[in-house]
Amino acid sequence: MAGLSHAQYRDQGLTIVGVHSPEFDNEKKIENVRREVASLGIRFPVVTDNEFETWHAYKVDAWPTIFVLDKSGHVRGKHVGEGGYAQTEQLIQKLLAEQTSPANTISGGNEAMTDKVVKTDEEWRKELSPEQYYITRQKGTEPAFTGAYWDNHEAGVYTCVACGNTVFSSDKKFDSGTGWPSFSAPIAEKSITEESDTTHGMIRTEIICKRCGAHLGHVFSDGPKPTGLRYCINSAALKFVKQ
Ligand SMILES: [Zn+2]
Repeated sequence: MAGLSHAQYRDQGLTIVGVHSPEFDNEKKIENVRREVASLGIRFPVVTDNEFETWHAYKVDAWPTIFVLDKSGHVRGKHVGEGGYAQTEQLIQKLLAEQTSPANTISGGNEAMTDKVVKTDEEWRKELSPEQYYITRQKGTEPAFTGAYWDNHEAGVYTCVACGNTVFSSDKKFDSGTGWPSFSAPIAEKSITEESDTTHGMIRTEIICKRCGAHLGHVFSDGPKPTGLRYCINSAALKFVKQ
């Protein structure tokens, strides 16, 4: 890691943070980590991640893993395992050059990582109501015809109740008769993620907030034209913003 010291690029807007995801119990103690960091001569800040939140957020389970983010927070490079320092260094130089040239706009990267909201389970429990927590963090479903929005016909947008990401709009809302707010499309492809859900003896496609990972609902293929899709969303996972 010699070439990757924090001090080296600090004046160019680049920060290096070490995240320690422990393997053994004694590595969970901050004082032990601090001693090792000092003995190895590491000059960048190191934080401990005993709950593996970083691994979950970035979908890795291997260490060491280096992520290189550009100034706008996009993940632009990833290296798993020891070595590869020269390539990482080259990428850093390339990104630093990009950032000093306004004509060279940043494109590509991993959109899913943009602006990610990562919180511990304890934090979500504190911030959300018990119903919101049950639905968004434990993949719950509210009873039909009980939520705030299934019969809402006002014009506006619906944001994720957990993080404020705009996920649906009244333009694409329709009366499905199911008792849940139903939409024929999300506000933008990049605002949600789809995942296969095989719980409760069914094969369904789960809809997740791309920004914070909140469970929002499911999508089914019996919706109206032109998409033919029905996004069946829990009111408790949404917050309506009138426009
Ligand atoms: Zn969210």
